[in-house]
Amino acid sequence: MYSDCHIHCRPDADGDEVLKAMDAREMGKAVLIAPQMTGSNEEAMESIDIIARICAPDPERLIGFAWIEPTLSGAVEHVECAINEKGLKGIKMIPDHWYPYEERFFPVYEKIEELRKPILFHSGILFGNLDSSRFCRPVFYEVMIHFPRIKFALAHISWPWTDECIAVAGRMRAAAQRGAVPQMQMYIDTTRGTPDFYRADALDKALKYIGAERLVYGSDDRVPGALTASGRGIEADREIVCTQICYSRDDFQKIASKNLDDFLTPFD
Ligand SMILES: [Zn+2]
Repeated sequence: MYSDCHIHCRPDADGDEVLKAMDAREMGKAVLIAPQMTGSNEEAMESIDIIARICAPDPERLIGFAWIEPTLSGAVEHVECAINEKGLKGIKMIPDHWYPYEERFFPVYEKIEELRKPILFHSGILFGNLDSSRFCRPVFYEVMIHFPRIKFALAHISWPWTDECIAVAGRMRAAAQRGAVPQMQMYIDTTRGTPDFYRADALDKALKYIGAERLVYGSDDRVPGALTASGRGIEADREIVCTQICYSRDDFQKIASKNLDDFLTPFD
């Protein structure tokens, strides 16, 4: 059994079908990311409705994340609706011609912090938008230190800036150790991006420096679909982690499932 923290949903996805595909892959939980509908406040609300509907058949296994676009005038209300009214479990954001550290977004982060929900940020090179990669450098997420009750994960080990991502995690850990924040806030979403010949090196460095407790498996797979990429990715990672770089099965199991539960559990 494993979990996947990074699966995208098209609007026509059906929760019962997703559950069947998960069962076929022996997947316990899936973080399902709302469709990217960020053109207007109305679209954003529609995206929240869609992901809530998809996750309704089993919210314990279908973990709905709202796609929040903080440049929209209603972004704070979108967060409130997604969490309080629709019961979604977290937030997804991709910086698209805005920087994560801009103070104009602080009210959005404050609302997310108040509601104690985690954020999954895109980080690293971005193939999906036109020219947005430069907004997604890992160090820009150091701003989360101002919101110490938000847990956040940087997707794709921020490839190609994997060293920078791992360093930011070290910086966030140090902030907790020195008492600047009460707890270590950051997780690393291992979703590919990394070509396989980079991957063993990136995972090894992350495991050595940050430890197995902070890595969370993800795949960037899509539904509707058979979750083939997710299933292939977890098997490839098992081989890399347990055989190529020689970490224990226990460490692998943390990455494969346990750490997602920790990421989703709010700070006290
Ligand atoms: Zn993605």
